[in-house]
Amino acid sequence: MSSSRVLVLNSGSSSVKYQLLDMSDGSRLAVGLVERIGEESSRLKHTPLSTGETRGFTAAIPDHDAALKAVAAELAKDGLGLDSPELVAIGHRVVHGGKHFTEPTVIDDTVLAEIERLIPVAPLHNPANLTGIRTARALRPDLPQVAVFDTAFHTTMPESAARYAIDVKTADEHRIRRYGFHGTSHAYVSRATAELLGKAPEEVNVIVLHLGNGASASAVRGGKCVDTSMGLTPLEGLVMGTRSGDMDPAVIFHLMRVGGMSADEIDTLLNKKSGLIGLCGDNDMREIRRRIDEGDEEAQLAFDIYIHRLKKYIGAYYAVLGRVDAIAFTAGVGENAAPVREAAVAGLEELGLVVDGELNAVRSDAPRLISPEYARVAVAVVPTDEELEIATQTYALVKAS
Ligand code: ADP
Repeated sequence: MSSSRVLVLNSGSSSVKYQLLDMSDGSRLAVGLVERIGEESSRLKHTPLSTGETRGFTAAIPDHDAALKAVAAELAKDGLGLDSPELVAIGHRVVHGGKHFTEPTVIDDTVLAEIERLIPVAPLHNPANLTGIRTARALRPDLPQVAVFDTAFHTTMPESAARYAIDVKTADEHRIRRYGFHGTSHAYVSRATAELLGKAPEEVNVIVLHLGNGASASAVRGGKCVDTSMGLTPLEGLVMGTRSGDMDPAVIFHLMRVGGMSADEIDTLLNKKSGLIGLCGDNDMREIRRRIDEGDEEAQLAFDIYIHRLKKYIGAYYAVLGRVDAIAFTAGVGENAAPVREAAVAGLEELGLVVDGELNAVRSDAPRLISPEYARVAVAVVPTDEELEIATQTYALVKAS
């Protein structure tokens, strides 16, 4: 039997999401997650794809070590144990790789130290990712473990896009620059879009709109990212489910001086209580559309602000790229919300952008075009698959070394 299994781990501060893939054909063998780690009522959900039946339990899982051991036990019940010789590597999603990590990287102590050094720029994510890596290494010290960074795809951005126009010395001292996130998704979707057009990634310029609860846009020229909407942190750019995206930075001083708010309070306001939820109380696009259909003006305004920003980024990245071959919508909203796709492109006929109403209304899990054949720029819906991309990059690296 060939050895081609890769376990993908996405470790959050109180959760671990996992997928076991067979890279001989990219198929899933098992998927699952552990939530509320450290609480009394932690929950594990596990689905072996052989049966498709989800099972799990609710019980106290005190830490990531216990969580991973519980996952290993579930996998073993399906004959997919982590001690199997068929498992060739573990691929970890790591949110922040700074400037340093431009590629997926086999993890050793030096790499761990560098990920740790980046904690000040990713205080929420990197510590959780590190815990996941350390736990997995303790469980299978002999197995190659690979870090796949959310920022890596964006390291090709030119300095003109990556730098903020602030004092250079201060910026460098604090490693303040635009790193971008969702890179694994932007890489996967831009490549899959080229494939959909029957072209090599080097031949096409694509604007990728990753619209999930977090949302980001990227401008990809010939397979390389030249600009992206998230910055030092995922707060910059588009209007998101709970994040404000772009804003006059002086709002922050104003809230401090006039509103008497602390840095942490403003951080929470802008990251967790803004965006769609701040504007209308809902961050789920389905609910917002339902309210709009009932004539809710607050929901309509939230939608309009969301679309206005999205459209501005389409225009900006059109200008950055000069020539655009395709615009690709992806993630929860991008893949499912036809009204968002229609509204984002409405009125941009002069730029060669048109959406066909019938094609846009089709629901499907497959990558597809929603622009009419005559359109100068292809508009595509391309479901993202970050786990497959992490597994693919991990497997390629392990095979090559
Ligand atoms: P993330 O990975 O950032 O948490 P997802 O990419 O899973 O997010 O996207 C989640 C969002 O997708 C939900 O908050 C919701 O707004 C949107 N969404 C999911 N399904 C639909 C749908 N059928 N119609 C409209 N929006 C949807």
